[in-house]
Amino acid sequence: MDDLATLGKRIRHFRTEADLTLDQLGARIGIAGSQLSLIENAQREPRLSLLSSIATAVGVPVAALLDEAPPTPRAGLEIELTRMQQSPVYASLGLPSIRPSRAMTDEVLETLVGLHQELARRSREAIATPEEARRANTELRQSMRTLDNHLPAIEELAEETVRSVGHTTGALTHRSVSRIAERLGFELVHVGDLPHSARSVTDLENGRIYLPPASIPGGHGLRSMALQAMAHRLLGHTSPQSYADFLQQRLEINYFAAACLMPKTQSVEFLQEAKNNRNIAVEDFRDAFGVTHEAAALRFTNLATAHLDMTVHFLRVGDDGAVYKAYENDGLRLPVDVTGSTEGQFVCRYWSSRVAFTRTNRTTEFYQYTDTPEGTFFDATQTGTTSAGEFSITIGVPFAHSKWFRGRETTNRLASRCPDENCCRKPEKDLTARWSGKAWSSAKLHAHILSPLPSGTFPGVDDRELYEFLQSHAQS
Ligand SMILES: [Zn+2]
Repeated sequence: MDDLATLGKRIRHFRTEADLTLDQLGARIGIAGSQLSLIENAQREPRLSLLSSIATAVGVPVAALLDEAPPTPRAGLEIELTRMQQSPVYASLGLPSIRPSRAMTDEVLETLVGLHQELARRSREAIATPEEARRANTELRQSMRTLDNHLPAIEELAEETVRSVGHTTGALTHRSVSRIAERLGFELVHVGDLPHSARSVTDLENGRIYLPPASIPGGHGLRSMALQAMAHRLLGHTSPQSYADFLQQRLEINYFAAACLMPKTQSVEFLQEAKNNRNIAVEDFRDAFGVTHEAAALRFTNLATAHLDMTVHFLRVGDDGAVYKAYENDGLRLPVDVTGSTEGQFVCRYWSSRVAFTRTNRTTEFYQYTDTPEGTFFDATQTGTTSAGEFSITIGVPFAHSKWFRGRETTNRLASRCPDENCCRKPEKDLTARWSGKAWSSAKLHAHILSPLPSGTFPGVDDRELYEFLQSHAQS
């Protein structure tokens, strides 16, 4: 179709160059001017013998007619407008097609084509609504569940990467992370003026990875961030085409960073020994590898099923009881909304994840057995605090696996009937009678509940700020 449009334009171009009207050229080659017009407007495909006659009549070789380039920039715009108006995106708008006529100025034509190109770009970019974002997130969690939260290819890549700098045991140091970067041709640069929307920025041309100031406390945060930035390169990521893509990439870079900080071989060795001693504790795993409790707990879910033969669940819950992050492949019934999304849903108040908040002594993990309609689970919960409030991190397993864990002798045991609303969701009858219709409350907005990300080359990152930042640093 494109080729036909270009061919038509080229015929018209050489005909007018030769100073011939449609009828005049038609007469010379033995067809009606109206037939020639159809060819010029790409509504009819000419036979090669006819092309040859046209070429002779206008004084150019046939090859000049068949050239794939538009004869003039103007003709290029006309072809582009015709093509864009045939796109499904434009068709879905139900607007009429405009035929690029000679009366249309170049300016109008350029504007129309520019608008069409932007329309196409925006539709390609998959601007995620909150619903789409939540759906993509749920699909990703479900697909990871079928993989037991384990990605062997990334495990291997991470092991190779840390081995390449001679790291064999214990916490991966900043020094080792820098050397990994060097081997990839990058220098880690700590700066105080990163774009607000970016966690890290990579300057591919000058081989630099910009990170927040080294003075920021927070355990393994910086090492993890640097590894995540490198992971985009190592995993061959390109600009994400959809929100699902974006989430998948984020999952992969997080996975890679965690697998470098807690390499598979060493981690499995460590955890297997703890299992043999019936003394598995996320806090020990965390301390052995110098990472946060949450990172260690999540890493445990990567390895537990594939390497320790146990199913498992993970929960990060806010002090209001809402799920921030969750994973299970052990049958624990996560609270979900109608779309299957669990983020922002409240867990049962009798679950360890919430009971742990009521404890006064929180220096160690809190242990609890919970009887649910899906069976009995053993949980170990650690609470923590951020500027956004308290949170709890829980690793749990079905009762049968509790024997491998520290804290299994706990006498804490509660029953949960959720999602039955009579379990813990419905207020007492007299309280309902007392307050129904007599109060009003406004909900806290959860920053973690997926919201649409502003579109750009990198979803959620301000392109302009990003490029200005790169520019100012590349010159220094
Ligand atoms: Zn409940």
